[in-house]
Amino acid sequence: MSEHVKCLIIGSGPAGYTAAIYAARANMHPVLYQGTQPGGQLTTTNEVENFPGYPDGVTGPEMMIQLQDQAKRFETDIRDGWVTKVDFTGPVHKVWVNDDKEIHCDTVIISTGASAKYLGLESEQKYLQLGGGVSACAVCDGFFYRNQEVVIVGAGDSACEEAHYLSKLCTKVTMLVRRDEFRASKIMAARVAKTENIDILFNTETEEVLGDGQVVTGVRVKNNLTNAVRDIPATGFFVAIGHQPNTGIFKDYLNLDETGYIKNVPGTSKTNIPGVFVSGDAADHVYRQAITAAGTGCMAALDAERYLSALEG
Ligand code: NDP
Repeated sequence: MSEHVKCLIIGSGPAGYTAAIYAARANMHPVLYQGTQPGGQLTTTNEVENFPGYPDGVTGPEMMIQLQDQAKRFETDIRDGWVTKVDFTGPVHKVWVNDDKEIHCDTVIISTGASAKYLGLESEQKYLQLGGGVSACAVCDGFFYRNQEVVIVGAGDSACEEAHYLSKLCTKVTMLVRRDEFRASKIMAARVAKTENIDILFNTETEEVLGDGQVVTGVRVKNNLTNAVRDIPATGFFVAIGHQPNTGIFKDYLNLDETGYIKNVPGTSKTNIPGVFVSGDAADHVYRQAITAAGTGCMAALDAERYLSALEG
């Protein structure tokens, strides 16, 4: 037996909840699947100080609970579950939850966000799983490394921002840059370069994250010009090498760019499939902010509502 819904929202970050608030108030009876990280990336963030309307700031988890409460107030059907498969070939859009439950949707709003990328080294994954000193979010975890030495890998704006953030907490930050230059904007790179306790190692790659079996104790690095290997003592290893949009299940149906972000019709939330809309980081590699995700969530609900009205004549 399949269920039929007017508006299915996939994802529970600021984009998904905002889409839910607008869709519910437009009488579309939205059903929202939360995925494996209810609340999305913001739940791993500490203080949010730049979301308008919170003059004193708010923590990421608190803000997500408030967004969820607001979506519930208008009777959004919020469910646990992971969307594992879709079929957007027919006039009715089919979505499967946890591989078995089949839902037929008039409209689908994709708000699946993006996830941090890791290097993929066995030792990195080991200490990540153990919670023993590997992190992809300096703002979330930097606090635990106050007055300690850390290593950060990456050379984009995120890495520079995070290295600078860590430099205010840690005694020393060693930054590993795999090429002989930054990818980051000049202003961000210059800020890092002039920070006294940030040591930048160019042409340097991570060989292994070192540890005592429980926690990180250092990082083995290699200079890719000289092949010289050395160990850097550190209690934290931060990875800031970009994000991967969570769009794999849509790749056979939706137009994606070369890095996997969903292509939307400029200025709208529309995808190449009528009735399927996208909001938040799944389509945005540039701004990636809670407020822009919320804005595009609103756009997706309004676009879905107009699409349904046109269908219903
Ligand atoms: P980017 O894709 O811009 O940068 C990723 C960095 O990680 C690159 O320097 C890349 O190296 C490096 N990298 C990738 N894989 C590896 C690896 N296996 N080993 C070592 N290094 C690796 O990602 P960001 O998250 O930094 O930024 C994404 C977007 O968000 C950008 O458009 C950025 O401008 C924007 N942004 C803007 C901010 C702001 O303006 N305040 C803040 C944060 C992000 P290489 O250069 O060699 O490819």
